[in-house]
Amino acid sequence: MDLCNIKTVRDIMSIFHLTAKKEYGQNFLTDPSVVADIADSAYGADTVLEIGPGLGVLTRELSARYKTVKALEIDEKLLPALKYTLNDCKNVTVINGDVMKEDLAALLADDFANGKVSVCANLPYYITSPILMKLLESELPFDSITVMVQKEVAERLAAGAGEKDCGAITVAVAYRGEAEMLFTVPSDRFFPAPKVDSAVVRIKLYREKPVVPRDEETFFATVRASFLQRRKTLVNSLSTGFSQIPKEKFAEFIEQLGLRPDIRGERLTVAEFAALSDLIYAEKAK
Ligand code: SAM
Repeated sequence: MDLCNIKTVRDIMSIFHLTAKKEYGQNFLTDPSVVADIADSAYGADTVLEIGPGLGVLTRELSARYKTVKALEIDEKLLPALKYTLNDCKNVTVINGDVMKEDLAALLADDFANGKVSVCANLPYYITSPILMKLLESELPFDSITVMVQKEVAERLAAGAGEKDCGAITVAVAYRGEAEMLFTVPSDRFFPAPKVDSAVVRIKLYREKPVVPRDEETFFATVRASFLQRRKTLVNSLSTGFSQIPKEKFAEFIEQLGLRPDIRGERLTVAEFAALSDLIYAEKAK
């Protein structure tokens, strides 16, 4: 079945009374070489978690390459179509659910116990960052995470902490692994075509994290607070994010770390964020 053929896609959508739902970011891939390259990027995995299989174009390629595929789709209307398009893919389990609500540790417990697990997804644009933050904050030992996202977001993911343009998501990525921009994908390779171009980023997760903060929850809270107001200094952003701690304390912490008093969040490295979050953690514990 050629799910990159627009006529086939239109026929399936008509048979199953489907329309591409904007609210779920449904832009289906139609370029076979892009689909194959994304599927290849999980090399070494035993199980692949796909977020948002859509009509199953990437799912079929994953099924041909990996032992087990778990595909999590929010739109229950797509399930009958997926049953049809994945009929011959016996190693695929489709789960109807919202990735933001799903207990991924429970869903993948057996897979993590028995082998390597990677994520592969053409992500819905409306919710890219929350999904990535959930995967990165989950502490689940994924081998790699490959995502197709808007080109601008991909650039931010791969920017590296401490670089201009970096954001909370950049720091979260750099904390858990190394991101590599694989290739860009023009908007005409989708049906329907989105307004912007896309790019594929592969994050290879560290087995042993090079930087280990005292408390991971405080680390992520520190990172998020640091980018709350991008135009403000780090001290101002942090005092908004952690309103229970007096502002002078943040000025002290910044000085203690040997950083400039007017520094902004985008200039800090992962190690500096970890050191800062350790000071905040100690202060909260007082
Ligand atoms: N993988 C297909 C492809 O490449 O053609 C479809 C990708 S489309 C950009 C995004 C898919 O994610 C859609 O099928 C959409 O219904 C699904 N989706 C959107 N939000 C979701 C969520 N919160 N949890 C799971 N799936 C979601």
